[in-house]
Amino acid sequence: MKTKSLCPECLEVIDAEVYEAEGKILLKKKCEKHGEFDDVYWSDASLYHKFSKWQHEGKAGVTLTKTDKGCPFDCGLCPEHKSSTMLALIDLTNRCNMRCPACFANAAAAGYLYEPTMEQLREMMVLLRSETPPCPAVQFAGGEPTIRDGFVDIVKMARELGFAHIQVATNGIALAKSEQFCHQLKEAGLHTVYLQFDGVTEEPYKKLRGIPALKTKLKAIESCRRGGIKSVVLVPTLMKGVNDDQMGDIVRFAAENLDVVKGVNVQPIAFEGRIDESERKEGRITIPDFMNLLEEQTDGAIPKESFYPVPFVAPISYFVEAWKGVPQLEFTVHQHCGAATYVFVENGRFIPITEFMDVEGFMEFLRDAAEAMPGSKVGKIKAIAGLVSALRKFIDKDKAPEGLDSLTLLASILGIGNREALAEFHRKALFIGVMHFQDTYNFDLERVKRCGIHYATPDLRIIPFCSYNAIHRPSVEKAFSIPLHSTKSQLGNRE
Ligand code: SF4
Ligand code: SF4
Repeated sequence: MKTKSLCPECLEVIDAEVYEAEGKILLKKKCEKHGEFDDVYWSDASLYHKFSKWQHEGKAGVTLTKTDKGCPFDCGLCPEHKSSTMLALIDLTNRCNMRCPACFANAAAAGYLYEPTMEQLREMMVLLRSETPPCPAVQFAGGEPTIRDGFVDIVKMARELGFAHIQVATNGIALAKSEQFCHQLKEAGLHTVYLQFDGVTEEPYKKLRGIPALKTKLKAIESCRRGGIKSVVLVPTLMKGVNDDQMGDIVRFAAENLDVVKGVNVQPIAFEGRIDESERKEGRITIPDFMNLLEEQTDGAIPKESFYPVPFVAPISYFVEAWKGVPQLEFTVHQHCGAATYVFVENGRFIPITEFMDVEGFMEFLRDAAEAMPGSKVGKIKAIAGLVSALRKFIDKDKAPEGLDSLTLLASILGIGNREALAEFHRKALFIGVMHFQDTYNFDLERVKRCGIHYATPDLRIIPFCSYNAIHRPSVEKAFSIPLHSTKSQLGNRE
């Protein structure tokens, strides 16, 4: 398949080919000035083909820039973009209280201070909420967002502006120090802590973060628990030879802490900047590798077949949109960007949703039901009633977790349940996801055009995540930064 990629040396757009060889999907490309490059795109061809079935066409929720230099230089969002914002990121600072060798934000090393003002933050959030449909979820990032002055007020602002999900991506140091801080954040409206969490031993932290950080992570989780934050997502950066033997242990750790840990979201490492060819080839790990590792390390309890690509759930939005008559967020990101599943935990045993539910059949059913949805109110009520009874045929009650009735499941899937139904679902369910952010070596314009994870920037643009980190970050930060010089006190101290 022909596509476009970037030259890792000069960042020009060049032709690339995605092709199959020896059971893998590879990407090769040639820059006239800098020669040929090749990389593994997806390490399992059969899973790649399976996921290809679930590509959905979407559209951007807003257009802010013109088509001019071409993708990815027109971000954004430009008229070519094909997904709206499902999760917005806002960097609050490039300061950090750690110095991770693996940091893609290059925080603190840049030599300048990037901290959008409160007014700029408000404008960015207003912009996100003006999309159609309004962006529902914002994640504060950085740098380390928790050390930004006024962080609690920024969370409050997000709540006032109507975000349904407010998250923070953090190393956990500030949370570990104070359950009071966690409590304040919870009161301000914070829903979820995306906690950098690379393993259940100190070794991965020493390699990826430069310090043993496990104790801090455990304390951060405890602080969240005591401070009332009941949704922590563990976010491991997955690297070969560093923590690829810990995927099962991380998921088991999450299951043991299910009262507060609601998910594990794995990020296979992206290679930023110049990297030695052999080191890259040696270290490249892709989504199917993670799925295989988890299957092996859970003795088959969470098989790779339990994972589906992000756009697999698009029919849910089609159905809810047809039913409510209001535009819904459509999960139309590229089918090879990420995968996810829900696993229920019962007496220490994992029950993937696919073990008791015909999820493919159900999605087909939802899509057909959306197309056939009648316009009248009575017709719609009938359609929902039909859905509830039809759902029973997609669920094998004998294999389902105890107490999880089909109504609760349906309400949770469609996001239309009352709070109790949703709480019941989330009490037992663990989300496991994986998203492979792109680097300049495996960059595919087809993927980034469909990206649904977007940065909002102070110049009031909305820039897809992988485009921002590969191309736009330095120019945006420089345009809105002040030089650091000797302002050492502005840098977080390593703790
Ligand atoms: S990534 Fe999207 S917004 Fe950016 S230039 Fe490409 S199509 Fe346009
Ligand atoms: S952030 Fe990158 S990997 Fe994720 S959806 Fe966007 S383009 Fe794909």
